[in-house]
Amino acid sequence: MTNPDEPLWRTTCRETVTAAPLLSDISVDVAIIGGGYTGCSAALYAAQQGASVCLLEAKSIGHGGSGRNVGLVNAGLWLPPDDIRNHLGQETGDRLIDLLAQAPADVFDLIDQNGIDCEPVRQGTLHCAHSGAGRRDLQKRHAQLVASGAPVELLTAQDASQRTGSTAFQGALYDPRAGTIQPMAYVMGLARVAAESGAHIYTESPVRSLRREGKEWLLETPQGSVRARAVIQATNAYHQGPEETAPDYVPVYYFQYATAPLSHNLRASILPAGEGCWDTGLIMTSFRLDGDGRMIIGGMGDLGHAGCGIHSAWVRRKLDQIYPQLSDQPLVEGWHGRIAMTSDHIPKITQIGPNALSAHGFSGRGIGPGTVFGRLMAQSLLTGDPSCLPVPVVPEHRERWPRLRRVYFETGAALTHLIKARF
Ligand SMILES: Cc1cc2nc3c(=O)[nH]c(=O)nc-3n(C[C@H](O)[C@H](O)[C@H](O)COP(=O)(O)OP(=O)(O)OC[C@H]3O[C@@H](n4cnc5c(N)ncnc54)[C@H](O)[C@@H]3O)c2cc1C
Repeated sequence: MTNPDEPLWRTTCRETVTAAPLLSDISVDVAIIGGGYTGCSAALYAAQQGASVCLLEAKSIGHGGSGRNVGLVNAGLWLPPDDIRNHLGQETGDRLIDLLAQAPADVFDLIDQNGIDCEPVRQGTLHCAHSGAGRRDLQKRHAQLVASGAPVELLTAQDASQRTGSTAFQGALYDPRAGTIQPMAYVMGLARVAAESGAHIYTESPVRSLRREGKEWLLETPQGSVRARAVIQATNAYHQGPEETAPDYVPVYYFQYATAPLSHNLRASILPAGEGCWDTGLIMTSFRLDGDGRMIIGGMGDLGHAGCGIHSAWVRRKLDQIYPQLSDQPLVEGWHGRIAMTSDHIPKITQIGPNALSAHGFSGRGIGPGTVFGRLMAQSLLTGDPSCLPVPVVPEHRERWPRLRRVYFETGAALTHLIKARF
């Protein structure tokens, strides 16, 4: 068993950023806590606007969800558009839907314009129907997305089979706006470009305390401090440090396993156009190829406890079911990450004090949304105009029984994996 906290993405990442711990006392316009997509995107935007910026990361860039995820660059949240409008109201809902529909273009433009070396593949995604009920769910999503102007396409079982190279699905929803990236390389590239634009990036610099002193914020790390006019907290599911500003969410674990790079022949039989995929199962499965042709398959569950063998046994059976041609390919790497889920699956922006915002709760959809939320939080703090924010700011966000619900999700995933994908 490989270390579940060492994602394959760190080994295959070709981007680097020069960073060191903060060892002095400095003053900036904007201090950013957290080196994932949200923090790095905020740092990049603020630096490009001419603000003095520092980003403080507790460990290394991409230590959180940004360095561990599947790499599906989606054009929206988990929720279909009508559910988003029901939660946020028509006008705010429409605005969020439009912003996130544009998010993959924002991500792929940033990658192109800054030469970020992160295996970008903009060939769309396939949401695959694992059952008749799954197909009906896709029909509803298709109708709502088309009514919202999305160029999505509902594929028959035969078309889905041609696109995936698998006969396991009863259809698929194709979204040509979306695509895949090497997730660690994207966040590392964002940090590099932010640094090239003038942001100071400090790693191994956990913010231990955050408080007001006069009209400024004072952030303390083990070996230094920062005075700042404005603060962005972007720590999401990997928050450590100040308890007063800790985001509240339901922690849900998701794991992935990878084969070694596949032979040319095998690779040609699987996802020949390179789409990223996930299925309609309640306890879902994701699968994609990476730039070297590894098959990467994932599901919900925590690899950090004694019973995690249930997940690894399931993933082997599931891969054999979807791609029988891979049954002799060992799964050589496995890792997991923590998702910050909110009950309504909508990310939150909270006001943690004057000129200080925190974003969290991307609920497993953070590549495009994190990039957009980070940029717009920086814009809002630099201009003093909250109307550009993607969701209304709330004073705080509380979840009911988050720890109990974590146990519920992990038990549900383990039981499903114990039972499912048996022939
Ligand atoms: C396994 C998995 C699969 C996923 N798949 C997808 C997917 O395919 N597509 C998609 O869009 N989204 C996906 N997501 C969600 C996505 O990865 C996250 O929403 C996104 O990475 C969140 O980015 P972030 O910058 O807000 O937070 P993070 O990337 O988690 O970064 C937070 C950072 O803050 C740092 N930090 C914490 N406390 C402090 C402190 N006190 N001082 C300094 N630094 C601190 C942490 O070390 C961490 O590096 C997935 C998530 C997981 C876990």
